[in-house]
Amino acid sequence: MFRCPHCDKPGIKPLRKVILSPGLLAGCTVCGEFSSVRYPSWLIAMLPGSVLMLAALFVESETWEWGLNISGFLLMIVLPLLFTPLHKENG
Ligand SMILES: [Zn+2]
Repeated sequence: MFRCPHCDKPGIKPLRKVILSPGLLAGCTVCGEFSSVRYPSWLIAMLPGSVLMLAALFVESETWEWGLNISGFLLMIVLPLLFTPLHKENG
């Protein structure tokens, strides 16, 4: 669980944070308040994965294409999950 910026308790479900993007709100299971991520930090976290998936369009080998796509996809899940800070939103 991730720490909620409102009540400072671990009330945000990891799965919710995975699919969280700017404009989408995550509800806290402890206090019920909403939080979200901000564009700059979200974009930075998405960048490495996007670069890998873009690079996959230009490689000749199918093995490399799959490898790049899969690593890019994983990075786009893991990096925002771990490094994008949550901000308070008013539901
Ligand atoms: Zn909370």
